[in-house]
Amino acid sequence: MGVFKRIFELALEQGIATADQVHRPERLPTDEEFLLVHDADYLRAFSDCSLDEERVRRIGFGAVTRTPTLVRRTKAEVAGTLLTARLALRHGLAVNTAGGTHHAFPTFGSGFCILNDLAVTTELLLAEGGVQRVLILDLDVHQGDGTAVCFQDRREVFTLSVHAASNFPARKQRSTLDLALPDNTADDAYLATVGSVLPDVLRNFKPDLVLYDAGVDPHVSDALGRLALTDAGLARRERLVLDTCLAFEIPVAGYVGGGYDEDLTVLAERHLHLHRAAAELWEAYGLGA
Ligand SMILES: [Zn+2]
Repeated sequence: MGVFKRIFELALEQGIATADQVHRPERLPTDEEFLLVHDADYLRAFSDCSLDEERVRRIGFGAVTRTPTLVRRTKAEVAGTLLTARLALRHGLAVNTAGGTHHAFPTFGSGFCILNDLAVTTELLLAEGGVQRVLILDLDVHQGDGTAVCFQDRREVFTLSVHAASNFPARKQRSTLDLALPDNTADDAYLATVGSVLPDVLRNFKPDLVLYDAGVDPHVSDALGRLALTDAGLARRERLVLDTCLAFEIPVAGYVGGGYDEDLTVLAERHLHLHRAAAELWEAYGLGA
């Protein structure tokens, strides 16, 4: 999780974002807001630092899971995801320096995800009536299984997951549309897949908002990846996704998602392709005007 801070610092250092473009959530989400997605017993046990061993093991963070610091941090991440979505609705485009906890299910966490920020944000915005249809575009290399389950009976939400077929989770759930790629899929084949499916979904489903999980674990050097994208490929992907949404005049909120490398600066640079693409398109579309 140390990478989130590094992304934030480097974005400012490199002039990708300016200080006045930085927004911070004013409060944590309420229990009622989390309960739009999560089961009351699970939320209470996590919040009270009393999760059972089995559920702690499945999340993967170990003993730290049952500490007030991690509880607060986890809830703050959901608050940031919601704020990013609200900013996207207001301005057309916004990107977060965290977010994308797509393996969290309503009753348990999994794969380093505890509360599903994308699902809570989607349910809350739908409940408020500000949006009628939401596309959750998940390009993290791992299938967005928790998100898929959260919305399996909801016609208002389209879940699109492009992932490595052979990667975690072993047992895939059913998204609205799953595109499972073979090991070692490289830039051109990957971008052709995303570039052909995304416009069709935007045209046919007509979402009012896109939540984009821009996990960088499809990178060739990622410790958990199995795909073979280069840095140039990731940069093209982020530009392709954001530009396609903006060309359809559909607000898009981008989230960091997964990415695994021992060198946090190397990893942060991979994630910053998202923020750099957002900054360039912010100018190109005149969104700050
Ligand atoms: Zn991942």
